[in-house]
Amino acid sequence: MTTPATHTHSPDRLLLRGGTVVDTDPHVTARPNTDVLIEHGTIVAVGSGLSAEGAEVVDARERIVLPGFVDTHRHVWQSVLRAVAVDSDLGDYLGLVLGRLSPAMRPEDVYTGNLVGALECLDSGITTVQDFSHVQHRAEHGDAAVSGLRAAGIRAVFGYGHPPFDPAARDPRLVRDLRERLFAGDDELVTLALAPGGPSYTPIDVVEEDWRLAAELDIPLAVHVGSGPVAQRPIEALRDRGLLNARTLYIHGNSLPDDELAMIADSGGALSIAPHIEAQMGHGAPMINRSRAVGLVTGLGVDVVTSGPGDMFSLLRATLLTSQLAEGSRLFAADMLRLATIGGAAALGLADRIGSLAVGKQADVILLRADAVNLVGATHDIAGAVVASAHPGNVDTVLVAGRTVKRAGRLTHPHLSTALADAHNSAARLATTP
Ligand SMILES: [Zn+2]
Repeated sequence: MTTPATHTHSPDRLLLRGGTVVDTDPHVTARPNTDVLIEHGTIVAVGSGLSAEGAEVVDARERIVLPGFVDTHRHVWQSVLRAVAVDSDLGDYLGLVLGRLSPAMRPEDVYTGNLVGALECLDSGITTVQDFSHVQHRAEHGDAAVSGLRAAGIRAVFGYGHPPFDPAARDPRLVRDLRERLFAGDDELVTLALAPGGPSYTPIDVVEEDWRLAAELDIPLAVHVGSGPVAQRPIEALRDRGLLNARTLYIHGNSLPDDELAMIADSGGALSIAPHIEAQMGHGAPMINRSRAVGLVTGLGVDVVTSGPGDMFSLLRATLLTSQLAEGSRLFAADMLRLATIGGAAALGLADRIGSLAVGKQADVILLRADAVNLVGATHDIAGAVVASAHPGNVDTVLVAGRTVKRAGRLTHPHLSTALADAHNSAARLATTP
């Protein structure tokens, strides 16, 4: 079932020549006619007229060069359930997707879902994804999920979770065992996290066990949070047990009061928001203005393609639009680009490695076609044009740690057509699940 990501092309030395380089840290800048030099998967120089000696050269003229996007919350396995819940609210989604369809997911569906879901990310310029994988009905599902991510060649934080409606599947031995078997090596591209139910949905004694497991395994946590149904003040409940820590990513939180957001900020934890899905499912008012007001490290999440779009460009626009409907200080296009890159990297604890084009960072880089009909003439405000106008079809080239996973507008995965056929077959079978 495992297909190693041997398809990716990775020269020792790669020069992206003459692009319009849009970096996002410490603030958004656009530099015309600029080169990016990559050695052994790391950015080693950014400037004009860099030497191409010994390097494979990519012509980046007529291209916008950006750091790869970071999706901080996505249930990747659900790519084989695309658009089953576009018109559903949160309650209907839970009943249909997690109640009825999740139990019908075989390990091979999870593999295909994660492979194609990750390829969908890469195709649209998302080079890192936090996969909140709550589909581990059995050990084989976890193995399949990790194999799918690795086969795609994406950078990922695999959040091990269990199906919320299958509490018997919550077994710490499965997590320990999966870590032993699949995360003992030095694969830096796919790393492990724990994605438990958390204080909003499970009793605090169960929460404490989960938090202790993450500490024992020395892995970060990702957890959905809101007021209730179990704890009305879930962040306070964590604080009272001494469980607030800097390695926890809190997801959504729309119904939390400001003082609990401030507790997260004080703990060094981070927030992942999914503005499109939060509006679509009715989670509550938009979060970005509130999270900024309390100084919370924040990233963006696609969340579910059962109900909304899977690309970052759609999410940039949803985030900007919903921020304009909320109270608080006004946000701008450049703020969106930072959220989607360095903000997401910081939320995942990876800002020292990814999220910008700084020298020393991993070469997670995307090139957009500036000569496309919807981007041509964008010299007035390049960052603004990316946020307002770009779409996945503009993504020409994608590098993950210097390895090419998309080139000339096409994914380079050698088994793409097989993966797509498998996804079609999985989706067709699941569609007839009673
Ligand atoms: Zn979620």
